[in-house]
Amino acid sequence: MYLRMAKRLLLETDKRLLWKATWNAGFKGMRSIQKFKKRMKKGEYFPPILFISIINSCNLRCQGCWVDVGAEQSKIEADAMHKLINESKEAGNSIFGILGGEPFLHKDLLSILEQHPDCYFQVFTNGHYITDEVAARLRNMGNVTPLISVEGSEIVSDERRGRPRVLSKTMQGIENALKHKLFTGVCTSLCQSNIDDLLNEAWVDRLIEMGVMYCWFHNFRPVGPDASPELALTPEQQRRSREFVVNMRAKKPIIIVDAYYDGEGQALCPAVTGISHHIGPWGNIEPCPVIQFAKESIYDEGHIKDIFAKSEFLHDFRTTVAQETRGCVILERPDILQNLMQKHGAKDSTARQQIASELAAIQPRPSQWDPEVAIPEKNPFYRWAKKFFYHDFGVYAEARLEERGCQPPPPVSANSTTPAKKLYSLTPRE
Ligand code: SF4
Repeated sequence: MYLRMAKRLLLETDKRLLWKATWNAGFKGMRSIQKFKKRMKKGEYFPPILFISIINSCNLRCQGCWVDVGAEQSKIEADAMHKLINESKEAGNSIFGILGGEPFLHKDLLSILEQHPDCYFQVFTNGHYITDEVAARLRNMGNVTPLISVEGSEIVSDERRGRPRVLSKTMQGIENALKHKLFTGVCTSLCQSNIDDLLNEAWVDRLIEMGVMYCWFHNFRPVGPDASPELALTPEQQRRSREFVVNMRAKKPIIIVDAYYDGEGQALCPAVTGISHHIGPWGNIEPCPVIQFAKESIYDEGHIKDIFAKSEFLHDFRTTVAQETRGCVILERPDILQNLMQKHGAKDSTARQQIASELAAIQPRPSQWDPEVAIPEKNPFYRWAKKFFYHDFGVYAEARLEERGCQPPPPVSANSTTPAKKLYSLTPRE
C-alpha cells in the first residue's frame, strides 16, 4: 500500500504543489502542534488550527446546515483575514480551514489566500465555483487544497442539498481541480440517505481512479434550523464507519482523514482537546462550527493570541465538557451547552437568533464515543502520526469518565420525542 501511495504522489501530482503541501501543512503543521503542546504545558492557550467561515452565503440549502445561508450576507473582509492569519502565524500556525456558506462566493477569497504563500488552506466547498480558470489560479498559488463535498447519488444529492443537478456540478468542479493537479480531497457527511452509497470500497476506488488524493467521512450532525434528525447515524453505523476507515487506511493508496479518534481508537472532540476552534461569518469565536454562541470576536481589541488566551468561556467549555464526555457534546449533552451559554452570558452568534430554542429541542443521542469499543488504527503510519500529533493532549485524563460511570445517552428510538434533560442520567459525582 505504501509503495502504491508513494507512486501516486510521485506520478500524479505537480511536484511544486506536493512540496507546498509537505512543507506548509506537513512539516510546519507538525511544528505548530508541538508549539501548541508547549503552550499548554505553560498554561497558555491558542489553537494550532483555526476553522474560519469567511462568508455565510451559499448557493445550496442543505439538510442539517447550521449556517444562515439565506440571511443577509456577512463576510470576513480582507483586512480582518490578514490580521487573523498574520497574528496566528506569530503563534507558529500554518494550517487554516476555510468554510462558509460557500467560500468561493467570497470575491476576495483567492487574493486573500494568495498573500500567504507560507500557509496552507483547506477550503471546504461544494465545488460549484471551481471553474477551469479558478483551478488554474489555485495551481499557480499552490497553497490551497479544495475539499469538495459529495453527499450521495444524483437524486440523494439534490434532496440533501435542496437544489437540482447538484452532483453533476460538483463532479465538474472535481474534474477541473484534478485537471490542474490540485491536491484534491472529497468529503461526505455520512447519514441515512448516503451511507450505503458512499461508505464502500467501490467509492474509494473510484476516488483513487479519478486522482483524488484524500477523503474524509464526517458523521452527519442533526443541528440548525433544518436539523433532519432522522438522517443521523445509529451507534452501529458510527462504529461501521470507524471500522471502514481503519480498514481502508490499511489497504488503499489514498489518505483518509478523520477528526474523532486517536491512534488507539479512543473518541475525542477537537474543540474540547483545543486543537481547533471556529470563527463564524460574523467574526464570533466559537468552540466549533455547530456550537453557535460566543463571548469573543476577532473584532475585539487586541492580539488574537490574547483574545483566545483570556477567554474564560472557551476554557470553561473545554474543561467542563471533558468532564462529561469524549464524544460530541451537542449530540450527547446539549444541556451542558445551555448551561454554559447562560453561565457566561454568551451571545447567540447566528442571524436567526434561535440557538437557545434549538439546543432545547435537541434529542440527546450517542455520537462517536462508545466506552465499550475502541477500534485502533491498523496502519502503523496513522498510529505514529496520531500518537504525536493528533490525540486528546491529556484533556480527558482527570475526568475518569468510566470510573465515574459516565455513559453516552441511549440510542434514540424512532418514536422517542422526549426533550433533552429528562433522557440523561449521570451518576452523581463523588
Ligand atoms: S462538539 Fe461535536 S461537532 Fe463540535 S467539534 Fe466536537 S465533536 Fe465536532
